Amino acid sequence: SGKWVKAMEIVKDFEIKCSTPISRLRQVCDAMIVEMHAGLASEGGSKLKMLISYVDSLPTGKEKGLFYALDLGGTNFRVLRLQLGGKGHGILNQQFVEVSIPPSLMTGDSSDALFDFIVAKLAKFIAQEGLDFKTTPGRQRELGFTFSFPVVQTSIASGTLLKWTKGFSINEAVGRDVVAELTKAMERHGLDMRVSALVNDTVGTLAGGRFANKDVVAAVILGTGSNAAYVERASAIPKWHGPLPRSGEMVINMEWGNFKSAHLPLSEYDLEMDADSLNPGDQIYEKVMSGMYLGEIVRRVLSWLAQEAAFFGDTVPPKLKVPFILGTPAISAMHQDTTPDLKVVTNHIKDIFEISNTSLKMRKVIVQICSIVATRGARLSAAGVLSILRKMGRDTIKEGEKHRTVIAMDGGLYEHYTKYRKCLENCLNELLGKDVFETIVLELSSDGSGIGAAILAASHSKYL
Ligand code: ADP
Ligand code: MG
Repeated sequence: SGKWVKAMEIVKDFEIKCSTPISRLRQVCDAMIVEMHAGLASEGGSKLKMLISYVDSLPTGKEKGLFYALDLGGTNFRVLRLQLGGKGHGILNQQFVEVSIPPSLMTGDSSDALFDFIVAKLAKFIAQEGLDFKTTPGRQRELGFTFSFPVVQTSIASGTLLKWTKGFSINEAVGRDVVAELTKAMERHGLDMRVSALVNDTVGTLAGGRFANKDVVAAVILGTGSNAAYVERASAIPKWHGPLPRSGEMVINMEWGNFKSAHLPLSEYDLEMDADSLNPGDQIYEKVMSGMYLGEIVRRVLSWLAQEAAFFGDTVPPKLKVPFILGTPAISAMHQDTTPDLKVVTNHIKDIFEISNTSLKMRKVIVQICSIVATRGARLSAAGVLSILRKMGRDTIKEGEKHRTVIAMDGGLYEHYTKYRKCLENCLNELLGKDVFETIVLELSSDGSGIGAAILAASHSKYL
């Protein structure tokens, strides 16, 4: 019928706008490298902040003692403790708890309210420290704070929040030192603890990855949001005016989520989602690749199909109009539905949108839309990985050298969405060629960000 033809036109048009041929990915990569150089050259020189982490030496494996971490950056936060055994002994013991953050605190007006909530959970966790964890008598407990928002650091344990991302928006916290905010909340709570490292989740993941594997030189997060960090030569950071570190290296938090380029394939659905977001115009790369947004893009396409092509019948099912009602885990489940009649799709569409009259033909279109969105995201993230490899000179095999490059990967999207992960890998293979691709390892480092922060707290302990 005419309506079906119209629906197919809409899907085809969306597919074309989201297409990511290799030539375009190379343009994205070229543009990203230009921005990386600009961001390293001067503060505010680029959409890529290329933030200096103050981590100039990565874990060696000799770290020792009991350390805590607090990992804040998405809808949940985690608190954990690690007992590190010292050289050759690795992690002797670890425990964590995960707590979801009440949405009212994520977008409230009070920085104190958020930090008080976090510290209350942290204090409770510390109170449950068992005898299998050993503090050193006379020492304050130390904490690594993983804070996954753009922060300009002034030292390893201080830094001011530039802006919120990923659904957080507490205006008064912007411009403040987040370690001071956390420390004040600890004092209000009577909690005796010192924050010895402030790290982005990418930096934590890189550190945690390096602790486990000495070939780790970069980290990529694909979770609620997306970001990456890598080891840069300190001499290649013109905006760094401090003393050259002994290692000659500095970990850079790219804040790649804020990348933007005319080469990014964007559709009207993406632009509208951005316009309606808490941070319009920001984090465009993140908004087409990461877990917070992929489901929402699919919802917007389905909603348009319902409205313009009566895809779900003569009226638009009301649930289709609810922003963020369709999560990326549902996209992943539908996309990877292997039942012959797409039963998983049937159930998700019924449960989420209260639509129960889908035909197999319609369900195939829904899977196709999920595939278009996930494929674009995965291939654009591959272009980002290529940019890092090129910047580090690890996108070619050098005469006589045989190195392995390991990238620590973390985030629920990468961990759970198999087709996304495979698509990223295949695309990287395509971009690099088989010989180079074989020297690259993408290594899942589950919860590496918290572990890495605790280890960095150890290597930056005041008792060393
Ligand atoms: P954060 O990024 O907040 O630290 P995670 O790394 O746990 O948290 O990532 C959570 C994100 O991962 C969610 O926003 C969700 O979109 C995505 N995710 C979780 N499970 C799945 C899944 N099964 N399939 C696809 N994406 C998932
Ligand atoms: Mg995380």
